[in-house]
Amino acid sequence: MAKYIFVTGGVVSSVGKGIAAASIGRLLKSRHIAVSIQKLDPYLNVDPGTMSPYQHGEVFVTQDGAETDLDLGHYERFIDVDLTGASSVTMGQIYSSVIAGERRGDFLGGTIQIVRHVTKEIKERIAKVAKQAQAQVLIAEVGGTVGDIEGLPFLEALRQMRNELGRDNVFYVHITLVPYISWSGELKTKPTQHSVNELRRIGIQPDVIVCRSDYPLSDEIREKIAFFCDVQKNAVVSLTAVSTIYEVPLILEEAGLGELIVERLGLGLVAKGADLLTEWRELVERTKATKESIPIAIVGKYAELADSYLSVREALRHAALYHDCDVDITLVGSEELEGEGSDARLRSVAGIVVPGGFGYRGIEGMVKAAQYARQNQVPYLGLCLGMQVMVAEYARNVLNWQGANSTEFDPATPFPVIALLPEQRGVRKKGGTMRLGLHPCHLVPGTRAQHAYNQPVVHERHRHRFEFNNDFRQPLEEAGLIASGLSPDGRLVEISELRDHPWMLGVQFHPEFTSRPNRPHPLFCDFIRLAREARGQHALFPRYLWDRQERLAWGNKHPLKPSAKGDA
Ligand code: GLN
Repeated sequence: MAKYIFVTGGVVSSVGKGIAAASIGRLLKSRHIAVSIQKLDPYLNVDPGTMSPYQHGEVFVTQDGAETDLDLGHYERFIDVDLTGASSVTMGQIYSSVIAGERRGDFLGGTIQIVRHVTKEIKERIAKVAKQAQAQVLIAEVGGTVGDIEGLPFLEALRQMRNELGRDNVFYVHITLVPYISWSGELKTKPTQHSVNELRRIGIQPDVIVCRSDYPLSDEIREKIAFFCDVQKNAVVSLTAVSTIYEVPLILEEAGLGELIVERLGLGLVAKGADLLTEWRELVERTKATKESIPIAIVGKYAELADSYLSVREALRHAALYHDCDVDITLVGSEELEGEGSDARLRSVAGIVVPGGFGYRGIEGMVKAAQYARQNQVPYLGLCLGMQVMVAEYARNVLNWQGANSTEFDPATPFPVIALLPEQRGVRKKGGTMRLGLHPCHLVPGTRAQHAYNQPVVHERHRHRFEFNNDFRQPLEEAGLIASGLSPDGRLVEISELRDHPWMLGVQFHPEFTSRPNRPHPLFCDFIRLAREARGQHALFPRYLWDRQERLAWGNKHPLKPSAKGDA
């Protein structure tokens, strides 16, 4: 039977529960404990797929195509696991499923209530992930803050689980903020006491309290929290700001949290004195070392909120670390690029990323960014929408197809170079209806894409409705916009790249979701490699040696067949 660690947060939102939960996962994984992880979000949306990034940051896509909370990205990156949609539960899903059951007649004669029907559904979903992942330990993080009305059914379910599974099988971690009051020069424990009181009122006594603060907690303060909140002093963990989020597991380990969990949950002893986190420690030390910094612009419409492009930023950092350099990321609001001469903001960068997005706002600025990158030979990585604007820009400014666009932004465009996927044409419902999740992509030999991956076939995560329009493929290819990655049946262009440019590449998928600090994504790695070489010498690249005739000859000899996995 699996054991469970439940992570809750108190005092304020954004206290860093996601990173703390992911870090606990890393501590267990480093002890060779089979661990999986789940997020329980109290909102009523079925998933965050229909929400604006301004509400909850980026939407993270799992390999099975679930649109999930961005914390799943932290989990995958810290624990180095591929999660499934079952790891992202919302109260919307819980209520939908209970109500659907009621309509089916599952509870005939009964009154449906939060306790026991809703809580039963919650407990089943938690147990399901533990079972599916064959986890020895399942970590579940509850979104929101203790005291929120929406989160109560989750907390009630977690309370019941300790009673049902026994004290040795359930462990509660509460993360709080200990604010610093500048006018008295003190760290204040009262909000933490109140938050723990709230948790205890619900029936949950935390085993560990992780306190986020601007300054380290003194022994005296830890004792005070331990005394009022009824935990051992070594169970009050101080967590101050870190220069890299990947340092958090090291701090928690240092504070003895790993040992405490292993001991309380009876997970067996690990050789004392062994440094379980050697590799992770090296990674953090390399991250923190001062290095050359490569300036990269992310040009998107949600530039005000860094969390909108969380995985993209992390993937850039992983790739930079691989090349032993840093990245200096500037978020450029694409609308800012729409005026004349506004590309000044791009002049000092060594590489441009145009990430994913939806809706017309800011599109023309992204097209300008693509044009700037193409004309000035600046390395460019287009992610999903970033590929689509790269294609539209090429069509408009190289082939002179005035008004070329995606039909998402101009349904009446005379050159719909990006258009709705045939299978998307009749789709009216918005939630979970895009082309989602892992799909195979065959790489065309001799292209930059194939060179970067150095593999014939890759599987990447998708989230989009629109696609390269094959009606325009031949003239675009002849003009130098090459399809370098295709679906197994050759029908969908998954990667495009420019023949006459050092490295301008767009992908219809989201490589950022599979980049890990210890396993950077090959496309991000190649992009950073080129950006690094490109610093200050954009125009000096040799033309890439690639020949369309050569590729066609290869294509005739190797017709692309659907892979065993098939495609959507
Ligand atoms: N809006 C575009 C589409 O639906 C791009 C989506 C994205 O960037 N994830 O195809």
